[in-house]
Amino acid sequence: MKLYNTLTRTKDDFVTHTPGVCNMYTCGPTVYHFAHIGNLRSYIMEDVLDKYLRYDGYDVKRVMNITDVGHLSSDADTGEDKMLKGARREKKTVMEIAQFYTDAFFSDCAKLNIRTPDVVEPATSCIPEFIEMVEGLLAKGYAYVAEGNVYFDTSKLPEYYVFNKHDAEDLEVGVREGVEEDTAKRNKSDFVLWFTKSKFEDQELKWDSPWGVGYPGWHIECSAISLKHNGEYLDLHCGGIDNAFPHHTNEIAQSEAYLGHKWCPHWFHILHLNTNSGKMSKSTGEFLTVSLLESKGYDPLVYRFFCLQSHYRKSLVFSYEGLDNAAVAFKKLIDRIASIKNEGEVDAEAFENLKKGFTEALDNDLNTSLAVTALYDVLKANVNGATKLALIADFDRVLSLSLIEKAEEKRNAPEENPAGGADAELVAWIEAMIEERAAAKREKNYARADEIRGELTAKGVTLKDTKEGTTYTIG
Ligand code: AMP
Ligand code: ZN
Repeated sequence: MKLYNTLTRTKDDFVTHTPGVCNMYTCGPTVYHFAHIGNLRSYIMEDVLDKYLRYDGYDVKRVMNITDVGHLSSDADTGEDKMLKGARREKKTVMEIAQFYTDAFFSDCAKLNIRTPDVVEPATSCIPEFIEMVEGLLAKGYAYVAEGNVYFDTSKLPEYYVFNKHDAEDLEVGVREGVEEDTAKRNKSDFVLWFTKSKFEDQELKWDSPWGVGYPGWHIECSAISLKHNGEYLDLHCGGIDNAFPHHTNEIAQSEAYLGHKWCPHWFHILHLNTNSGKMSKSTGEFLTVSLLESKGYDPLVYRFFCLQSHYRKSLVFSYEGLDNAAVAFKKLIDRIASIKNEGEVDAEAFENLKKGFTEALDNDLNTSLAVTALYDVLKANVNGATKLALIADFDRVLSLSLIEKAEEKRNAPEENPAGGADAELVAWIEAMIEERAAAKREKNYARADEIRGELTAKGVTLKDTKEGTTYTIG
């Protein structure tokens, strides 16, 4: 498989330290708010990669942290802990919101058919491991204590900024507003490994350490958690592109300094999901969630389908129009699969030939949109029903769109009268609302169109936009 590597800036052959085994690490969510659909784009694409490696025969061990301490509101070391901000917003304790938003994250993942990683580790359960790593870095001369904090000394490295040759535009997203100079640092690029001092004295979670009572920096979390579960040689590290700098740069610096050898040769970064008005941001509270999409009548798997149709290395602009198109295409796809009769024996030769289109697409830098095209090629192919259904089930091990299950549901629930015996007054109201929504859309008044969809959803009416117009179901 060829997979783009942010470290080398080329599509590299994917190879692992131990053949057939893949130690994979994913930066997990910062659980101070709901995950937005941008975050979830990253987790969907990582899920596809994880599943494709398994499909390809790798024994994958995927590890993910949960950031419940240490991620400051600026990715540099000066802001307030995001968790504390979240707790204050909701008048709860940090651990209460951590639990609530961790559960919410996994519930969203389940709706999107994202597999839970083999190991999920909250940062707060690994404090001894962080302390051990910081002690090791101090002992080796890669860290220093200044004004109460422990810093990593980037000047001790032969090479820092390993991602800095990357397109400036891609890395820009990692540079946050509100960065202030920390005068205790010896070098501008040094970063905090352990905090005991900050402007924000009300930090809720603190632990005893050789340097005083304090809390870990965000970067050390991922290095130490990966080391604990993936061992000294990591094969693949994933995250959204904003994590490339400074977070991943700092992970590499401290891991390699601590281990004394190269750590992770392959870095997989997903470009951002944006809206027409710009970047989606958890911290500003302006974002879309899976629950919001559901309340508007969308099946979460339509969002997964929407994401699969574009390449992970291109930024993706979200719009309801785009999602509506994906919903229509997804419904048609399920209808077509539902109409396939399970006839004949699986034709092994045709199976292998058609599978090639799918594996070639994914072997070429995880080209999911071409993999979806390979699925349509199966529908069009001149082969029997049993072969088609076997291929669809096979591809869905990676695509995870519940294609066979949804087609089965569709076969068992034939199209009914959408109003299903509802009274004439209700039907007239619904139809008037649909007409008003269509007019609002024509005038590009999407806010009003969304509002109408919301009102209908609240009354249990689900809209489906098709090429022929909008249809609906009640209840
Ligand atoms: P966070 O919860 O902020 O720590 O982010 C969780 C994951 O989502 C990280 O891998 C981020 O890089 C990624 N991410 C953040 N914003 C976006 C976005 N708009 N589109 C795609 N991925 C994102
Ligand atoms: Zn991380």
